Amino acid sequence: MATDPAQRLLLRDATVVTMDPDHRVVTGDLLVEDGAIRAIGHVPEVDEHTPKLDTSGMVIIPGLIQGHVHLGQSLFRGLAEDRPLLSWLADRIWPLEAAHNHDSAYWSAMLGLADMMLSGTTTIQDIGIVHGMQGLLQAVRDTGMRAIAGKCLMDGGHGVPAGLAEDHRQALAAAESLYTQWHRSADGRISINLCPRFILSCSQPLWEGCVELAHRLDAAIHTHLLETPAEAQAVLEVLGREQMAYLDDLGVLDTKLCIAHGVCFDREHQELLAGRPLSVIHCPSTNLKLGSGIADLARLAATPGVTVGLGTDGAPCNNDHDQLEELRIAALLQQYKQGTGKFAARDALALATIEGARAIGLADQIGSIEVGKRADLTILDLRGPATFGPHSSIYNRIVYAAARDCVRHVVIDGRPVVVDRKLTTMDCEALGRRPAEELNLLLARADIDMSH
Ligand SMILES: [Zn+2]
Repeated sequence: MATDPAQRLLLRDATVVTMDPDHRVVTGDLLVEDGAIRAIGHVPEVDEHTPKLDTSGMVIIPGLIQGHVHLGQSLFRGLAEDRPLLSWLADRIWPLEAAHNHDSAYWSAMLGLADMMLSGTTTIQDIGIVHGMQGLLQAVRDTGMRAIAGKCLMDGGHGVPAGLAEDHRQALAAAESLYTQWHRSADGRISINLCPRFILSCSQPLWEGCVELAHRLDAAIHTHLLETPAEAQAVLEVLGREQMAYLDDLGVLDTKLCIAHGVCFDREHQELLAGRPLSVIHCPSTNLKLGSGIADLARLAATPGVTVGLGTDGAPCNNDHDQLEELRIAALLQQYKQGTGKFAARDALALATIEGARAIGLADQIGSIEVGKRADLTILDLRGPATFGPHSSIYNRIVYAAARDCVRHVVIDGRPVVVDRKLTTMDCEALGRRPAEELNLLLARADIDMSH
């Protein structure tokens, strides 16, 4: 291994919450070398030129992982309020997404990435957009975020605008070419998967093509599923089938499948899916804001083969990308749903760290602080009055009390991307100006009336 001091980073005198298999909490130092974690605990004197981050008295946790977001929607925060899912999509989100081009996609992604990095997120799994994926992925590459993303695949359905309904062959060919160009790019930080949007906007040939491509490329499928009872009813009316049975017949449930939401995961689904490698991304704040319901994490956890991660979803469906807030909401809801004390704060933190990494297939690289894993780290300063609690559990302080202003530094792949609450990889002047300019141009292209 190379030992160029320029590739090192030293973090001294912190509390390290590892989330490793032994759930160790270590007081001491952390040494990063060539983007990987090299030592935890006591690090002997290193070359005086070794770069350091001031972490004295702070708490280092594994970088937060968001299993379900939409960078392409970051421009649209506040433009689709107070609607249930199907109207939220057809009346607002789809017409807006249909107007994306390269530049609007780039600045939408930059906005979302800045928001997520500043609140401690180091890895995202993104359901992309139909047009503008190159811009979106260039933003990921430029900022240093770790990401799994895929082109949003749609080829019809009620309310889908013409600009988003592609021919299924063309859509799949574009997804494959994106994979060829971007998979494992940016020093391995960017991976590509397949993102059919949801059952109602994808034809049977599109699903079949996705399954074929998933097997041929060994790629995962990420989609929205089991989000609301109304969606289940609409699928029944359109296809005459229960949605999971339909996907099972098409072979979708035998791929590496990651679904966002899973609110409607019931006993029959549990039987159908037991032993299959399904992962579910819990998005509690979106499920609350769109009135969809509360996912039953106990049932999901009791289903063999199922892993569960956490995500904020897009900016217009819960209005923020703050994964610390999402952790708190997830934990609070499960106290209500499962009974007090059944779902520990450490279980909640796992959703955004090690379990979140399992859910997106990256647990061998990230999700816990262990020697040899990539150095994705979120450094929290819990010394303020809002997080006082010297004798309380560190997990409770993080999950129930910490907020985004506790995030002091963020490191991705050994590179500090936030230092002292400031972004290091973005032009903040442009970030304060370009997204609004691009949104105005996009609204003019979309020609939609936002007044009702
Ligand atoms: Zn979503």
